[in-house]
Amino acid sequence: MVNKERLFDSLMTLGEIGQMESGGVSRLALTDLDQKGLELIAALMKDAGLKVRMDEAGNLIGRREGRIADAPAVLTGSHSDTVHEGGRFDGALGILGAVEALRCMNEAGIVTDHPIEIYAYRDEEGCRFASSYSGSRIVTGKFEPERLTRADPDGISVAEALTELGLDWRLVDRAARSPASVRAHVELHIEQGCVLERQGVPVGIVSGICASSRGRITLTGEAQHAGTTPMSMRRDPMAAAAVIIQMIENEASRTGTTVATVGRFQTLPGGVNIIPGQVEFTLDCRDLSETVRDGVLDRITAQADEICRQRDIEFDIEIYSRGTAKLCSDEVQDAIRRSCNELGISAIALPSGAGHDSGSFHDFCPMGMIFVRSVGGVSHSPAEWSTPEDCAAGTEVLYRTLLTLAVADSARAAMPAGAGEISHN
Ligand SMILES: [Zn+2]
Repeated sequence: MVNKERLFDSLMTLGEIGQMESGGVSRLALTDLDQKGLELIAALMKDAGLKVRMDEAGNLIGRREGRIADAPAVLTGSHSDTVHEGGRFDGALGILGAVEALRCMNEAGIVTDHPIEIYAYRDEEGCRFASSYSGSRIVTGKFEPERLTRADPDGISVAEALTELGLDWRLVDRAARSPASVRAHVELHIEQGCVLERQGVPVGIVSGICASSRGRITLTGEAQHAGTTPMSMRRDPMAAAAVIIQMIENEASRTGTTVATVGRFQTLPGGVNIIPGQVEFTLDCRDLSETVRDGVLDRITAQADEICRQRDIEFDIEIYSRGTAKLCSDEVQDAIRRSCNELGISAIALPSGAGHDSGSFHDFCPMGMIFVRSVGGVSHSPAEWSTPEDCAAGTEVLYRTLLTLAVADSARAAMPAGAGEISHN
């Protein structure tokens, strides 16, 4: 049903907007290029027969009416922005896959009970203003006015960027939806990891978005001469850090589900012939279970404290952000699983280690995500790739999932088990 070539053409065409010499795509949030990308998406939405509008926060919306005009809408979509020199699929697949799915519904003459709306969310990546998931947070009533004052490296604030695009920043909170107006939210997205590829399956059913945490560890010893200080007389925080980082790797691996990363490391004073006086490094730790993640963090803290005590090193840890897990609803996961089964697509369930717009919906309406295999697990890179076949498979799954979610509760209750819910006009 899904037109593979048409879908892939639209992905490649959108990917030309903001394309750099490296082949990477830079359509940072609320820039002219972001706007140009949305103009193309709006044209594709109109061509697919959707009613198109932009909300007060700059999110683009394409709506397909249902049989029951004022019924809550099934929402789908993803983000329109990219990172610096990102790929052609991150965000784009969720929007253009949804456009293809609704186009197919029109071609097949299908009427759903509930309306379906595609959102192209603004500023998911947070690259320009350090303000991730802004568009979807506004839609779900999580608007933080403070974000409007955040500025990009050129000193342009979010409010100013909105004004330049002809939007009134004083009205952005009007883009919020009432929970009563939304039936469910389902997002198609590339996996951005290598689990599906390793398992040899094209599609994944996301179980939830991991609870992330970020922290900073500081180890203080004594800066001394690298040549004159015998090994037995040193208080070397670098050597302690090496042991601690090894221990972090072990502790995260032990649970089988946790991931922990030391991504940034700083040495003071940082001379080739100086034993460092202090080192500081970051700790990013995630798990689908907050309890498991917090247990890992507690064990890391206790053991690091002990390692430092034995080496006469001062130890300090600050966990400055501790997010919550955003579990996908059983209802949406079941609808996705059923779609995969009907299509004969073998799919596996997996958590999302990365954050997504769908996370904004976890306490707002039933939500879920469909992952599509990423070649080599590469993302946020010019080399990001998913095959036309896999993109089409994910879109087929989205198509069927949307149909399932767009059936009225009354119709569902009246339906014999296993009956199709597709009606043709
Ligand atoms: Zn994304």
